Amino acid sequence: MNNQDFRKHAHELVDWIADYMENVREYPVRSQVKPGDIAAQIADIPPVAGESFESIFSDFQNVIMPGITHWQHPRFFAYFPANSTPESQLAEMLISALGVNGMLWETSPAATELEEKTMKWLGQMVGIPNNWSGVIQDTASSATFCAILAAREKATNFHTNKSGLYQQAPLKFYVTREAHSSIEKAMKMAGLGSEHIHFVATTDDHSMDTKALEQAIQKDRSKGFVPAGIIACIGATGMGAIDPLEQIGNVAREEGLYLHVDAAWAGSALILEEYQHLMKGIEHADSFVFNPHKWMGIQFDCSAHFVRDKETLIRTLTIMPEYLKSNQGVTDYRDWGIQLGRRMRALKVWFVLRGQGTEQIQQRIRQHIQWAEKLAETINNTEGFELITQPRFALFTFRALSNSGDDDNTESNELNDALIKAVNDDGFTYLTRTVINGQSVIRWSIGHTNCTWEDVESSWEKVKEKASKLQ
Ligand SMILES: *Cc1c(COP(=O)(O)O)cnc(C)c1O
Repeated sequence: MNNQDFRKHAHELVDWIADYMENVREYPVRSQVKPGDIAAQIADIPPVAGESFESIFSDFQNVIMPGITHWQHPRFFAYFPANSTPESQLAEMLISALGVNGMLWETSPAATELEEKTMKWLGQMVGIPNNWSGVIQDTASSATFCAILAAREKATNFHTNKSGLYQQAPLKFYVTREAHSSIEKAMKMAGLGSEHIHFVATTDDHSMDTKALEQAIQKDRSKGFVPAGIIACIGATGMGAIDPLEQIGNVAREEGLYLHVDAAWAGSALILEEYQHLMKGIEHADSFVFNPHKWMGIQFDCSAHFVRDKETLIRTLTIMPEYLKSNQGVTDYRDWGIQLGRRMRALKVWFVLRGQGTEQIQQRIRQHIQWAEKLAETINNTEGFELITQPRFALFTFRALSNSGDDDNTESNELNDALIKAVNDDGFTYLTRTVINGQSVIRWSIGHTNCTWEDVESSWEKVKEKASKLQ
């Protein structure tokens, strides 16, 4: 394709994208295709001769689009959001055009220095101490993996990096049952073994019981294990559980354990003054991660990973072959994560924060939280429904009650699973489920940039309509 054709098609695509953003409500939120539907329409062998852009783009519209689940749909209430904003999309266009690989400072000084600055901005916004450092990872899973590796090296005096774990007593990591599955994955990848995750008991609100944490650590020590790290969660995935950071921080400090804080989703809400108290004790933590790509309008992928002592992280991950030797005294972000090559993600952070200001982002997130509280109250007052967990930030869980009135979970679990399926097969709105105390419940998570109260209300009407046919 020559540049003249590129210009023409790029303009067409921008128009298509703007139309998409305007009309995204017309699509079913969750893709309605069946497994294999899309693959059946794609050739089994690559074309030998190049094809026209018109024919590729026409297939994009006809073949690919039906297989898209619309994360940018304002009625996407499933999982957690991965929202976007126009500013972020514009930045992604430039990132894509420059095609920078920011592995070293000198492979694009602006990529590195902008990343350092924008991470300082994000850190100030969520309440990270000023002397911490930050790096943008692809996902929270990567940040947590790096944290567990750093904790492993700290606990073994950096011997594991060199000699492996062959003579090492098992290292123990402490989390609650609410902790994200990325921690188990990280334990497997780090060679530590998933069975060495110690699940600590929780209090009534599903947050970590710090007394139980202390006892667990003592018990493991007495058995000859090596307690190495704690992962505390602010806003866990199931129903938004919040671990008491200050108390856990004290235990971590007293016991000499590495403390990583996973606030992947709820971290964006920490920019609201009314939630800043949850960060009390952060100075006792070693690292913290949140995903601006979930709720801040800085689109996927963008995960903000902060560390108190960057040397521990760098010493854990640095590799220095001759062909990568570089300038002294500058930041080479290839030493801060799993990847060598890295995208210039800081540009979209900069565009969104400058274009919207913290004020606009705060307003939007605060609005989502208010709507979640309002809807949860409505559901609580609606006959035939039961609120299971109160809103934490903008997430709550509820279930429909079966008409028979008995308390057998089997029946109400079947009802709620059928309800979720009916709602998602309809396509008007999109919700997902979880299990709490053996009960199948529906999660409702608000977070799309363009969501309105009307989207929330009409989706609730849809849920009631579907439920009435099943109850
Ligand atoms: C979403 C989420 C993760 C994983 O996020 P990725 O960026 O997809 O790896 C981890 N922890 C919590 C609490 C989350 O909500």
